[in-house]
Parts: sequence; C-alpha cells; structure tokens
Amino acid sequence: MDAKVRVRFAPSPTGGLHLGGVRTVLFNYLFAKHNNGEFILRIEDTDQTRFVSGAEQYIQDTLAWCGLLPDESPLHGGNYGPYRQSERKPMYKQYADKLIEQGNAYYAFDTPEDLDEKRKEIPNFQYSHTHRMGMKNSLSLSKEVVDELLKNNTPYVIRIQVPENEEVSLDDVIRGHVSFDTNMVDDKVLLKADGMPTYHLAVVVDDHLMKITHAFRGEEWLPSAPVHVLLWKYLFGLDQMPKWAHLPLILKPDGNGKLSKRDGERLGFPVFAMDWFDPNTNNTTIGFKERGFLPEAFVNLLAMLGWNDGTDKEMYTMDELIAGFSLDRVHKGGAKFDYEKAKWFNAEWIKKLDNKKLADLVQPYFDKEGIEVQDPAYLVKVIGLVKERCHLLPDFIAQAGFYFKAPTEIDTASIAPKWEEKKQCFFDELGKLYSSKIEAGMITAPAAELEVEFKELASKHDLKPGELMLPFRIMLVGGKFGPGVFEIVEAIALKDAIARIEHSLQLLS
Ligand code: GLU
Repeated sequence: MDAKVRVRFAPSPTGGLHLGGVRTVLFNYLFAKHNNGEFILRIEDTDQTRFVSGAEQYIQDTLAWCGLLPDESPLHGGNYGPYRQSERKPMYKQYADKLIEQGNAYYAFDTPEDLDEKRKEIPNFQYSHTHRMGMKNSLSLSKEVVDELLKNNTPYVIRIQVPENEEVSLDDVIRGHVSFDTNMVDDKVLLKADGMPTYHLAVVVDDHLMKITHAFRGEEWLPSAPVHVLLWKYLFGLDQMPKWAHLPLILKPDGNGKLSKRDGERLGFPVFAMDWFDPNTNNTTIGFKERGFLPEAFVNLLAMLGWNDGTDKEMYTMDELIAGFSLDRVHKGGAKFDYEKAKWFNAEWIKKLDNKKLADLVQPYFDKEGIEVQDPAYLVKVIGLVKERCHLLPDFIAQAGFYFKAPTEIDTASIAPKWEEKKQCFFDELGKLYSSKIEAGMITAPAAELEVEFKELASKHDLKPGELMLPFRIMLVGGKFGPGVFEIVEAIALKDAIARIEHSLQLLS
C-alpha cells in the first residue's frame, strides 16, 4: 500500500500572504483531504536577517480565516516537530557533514569582501564549477591549509558541489518531465557560518524527516529544483523524493507577468489575504478579508485560478472542492487575476450565505460607522432584503444602513432640477398623512397600503406616482438605490419616514 499522503506548506515568515501563496495552501490542503492525507504547516525561518515580527502569526490567522487548518504545525504540534526550522537547527549539520564526506559538498572560507571583489571583477559571477577553483575553499586549498583554517575556527559555509555536464531532471505532476543542465546551476550555500542551514538544505532534510510524499509550491521555485533533486540523490536516494508539482503563477489582469502587491496598489484591489501591517515600514497593505470578502468566496475564487473540473461549474463549497480536486486538472499556464470576477464570486456567496451569519459579519462594519442596531433579529431581516445588491460586506453600509439611521447625505442635486411647488405640497401632505396614522395608534403600515395611499394622494395633486418615486427614495435613503420605497417605509416605520421627508423638504426649500 502507498504511504499516507503528507503535504506541506512551507512559507518563510517575511510578510503578508499573497493570494498565490494562499492558493498553494489550498491546493496542498485539497490534495491532502481528497486523499485522506495530512497537511502540514512548516515555518521556514532559517534566514534570520529576513525575520519579520508578526508574520508567522499572520500566516496562522490567514489559514484559520480560510478554513485551511493544518493537521500539524507550530501551533498544533504533531509527531514530526518542531515545525519551525529555526528550532530544528541542530538537526541539519550531520547532513551537511555527510555531503562533505561523500564529496558532494565542500567548505568555503571566502569572506563577504572576497565575494564582493569577485563580483566586481567578473561580470555575472557565479560560484560554480567555472570559478570555484579560484576561490578559498576545501577544493582549491590543500588539506593542511583547510585543517588549519578549521582548527582556528575560521568562519566557513558549506556549499554543494554541483557536478559538471550532467542533466538533472524531475517528473513534475503538472509540467511533466523537466530537466536542467547542471552547468547552469551554482554551488548554493547549504550551511551558513552561524550553523544555520539555508533554505535548500533545510527544505530537503525536513521533507525527508517529515515524510512528505508530495511537494507543491509556486512555479517561482522551479529554478531551485535541480539543487533539491541533487540533494535528494546524495542524501536519501531519488526513490525517496516526494512528487513535485510547481503551480502556475497568478498573473496581472492583462496577463503580462506575475501579479504583485504593487499591481494591487496601482489598480486598487487587494493582493494579500488579510490586512498586513509591516512593522518595518509602518504601512498596512489591504487584504481580501478587510475589503469585505467572505472566506468561502476567497477560497472558491482561488480554486478557480488554475483549476476546474472540466465543466462550467464555478461555485464550490470546500467539501465539493475536496471531493472534486485532482492535480491533473491544474493548468500549466498562468491564471489571469480578474478583480471584477473575484467580486462576482463574493456576491454569489453573499446570496448563498445564511442571513444570521451575514448579520454577524456585517455588525462590525455598522459599529465602525456608528450605525446602531437595537434589534438583532431586525438586522437579519434587513440583510435578507438587500443581500442581492451587495458585492462586498461594506456594501451593506449603503444598502442597509438607512434602515437603522437617517442618511447624512441626501442627493438633493438629483431632485432639484424637476422640483416644483406642487411636489412640495404633495410631500407636506404625505407627512401629515403619516402623522395621522401615528395618532391613530399605528407605528408602521404594510407596504401595499402605503402604496395605495401614495398613489391616491398623487392623483389628488395632479401628479404621476412615477415622478414622485425617485424624490421619495432619495429622501428616505439618500440616493438612487435600495429596495422598493414602500418596503423601506414599512421597515423604518412612520415616525422615521416623517423625519426624513421633513429634513429633505428643508434642504430643498
Ligand atoms: N520557504 C519557501 C517559501 O518561502 C518554500 C518553497 C517550497 O515550498 O519548497 O515559499
């Protein structure tokens, strides 16, 4: 029987999570769950110079928001921990030593200044078979000199010795057979002077120790793959290597290159999953969550960026994605990001989501706007009335806020050009009509009854209901939007309707 499927998401905690990163998580997760396997979060924090406070927490929060919870992680623990590479530091040295013993790696004593000098001297300098003998390392120096340097604790790094004139290849689940010419690959550092492994050594050792069966990551990691394949060959044997899948890039809307954080800023849409506050610059980058996306919609739209089930179906729940996901339907080519389409997914999910759940999500937006909800059940009802018109959660402020609070801005400019004395009299009288209803003990009235009365009053004033509807709507909600006007009056009740009519009449007079 095949080994249990174990996949990993292995981010370096250096900043906010790009939607491409979350899609990598999603495809890992779907593949694991589809195969009753395990999904592991491993934090690759060996590069201490790139440490950013808060970034790991952000990753965990993002995964939790998306409902992509790992089975094993720094937070959840597991049998193969620790799950933070910085805490695994003592585990790596023996593998670097083994590579040295086997003749697949060597000590390099070059100082940063030596390297800088070489870079100045030789254009496009690469530490590889072409130049390694001109550098200070255990291949170019005599054994005595090397022993002496080591004895004196001279700082060194360990580099892989990439063989000359070989072809290294891997069978990528998405791209098929991919091969690399080793002459193009440089001798990457595996262990740094401080004893910390680099990403290249750590990723291979940990995928082995954590019994990873499939390694899925973004296409941008493909150039590193030959180094990883060589390390697998030297350390554990190629038959032990996980199956690789390099996922296609998410492209700019025009298809020209990888979608970047800067594209989002330029075009006015989020690229990160959640708001990211960068402690180094004090800048916050907007996220899908705070823009008002539902996690269900975010996951759904990410799944469709590079995958489909071969039909036209676009709307998927997580369970449907798990059931339907297969890697052979992931496209090779990059997927263009379309923000309008992303909003469409959210609007569809808003329609689908339970009104009570939506009310809980909308409440914080109302709180921020100072819109007070006295009766939560009423909010649930209102959500049901307006949800068809909302693409993003903050849209509920405009579409539903007026049920709870009189609009602060009234678009009188849209009423004024056709405003006339007759209409002024009509609305005066409408207010009086509503007052008389209150005097008769009514708080509100059914929309149908309000409509009949409105039409009767219009004809009494020799006006067509059609020319009164728009001004009435604007008085009630502030602008040209919202559901039927009489439903609005019924919902906000007579007293509020009178106050809004009077306020607008003052502005118009
Ligand atoms: N640590 C790498 C990153 O930051 C992981 C690449 C991989 O999955 O091998 O994305």
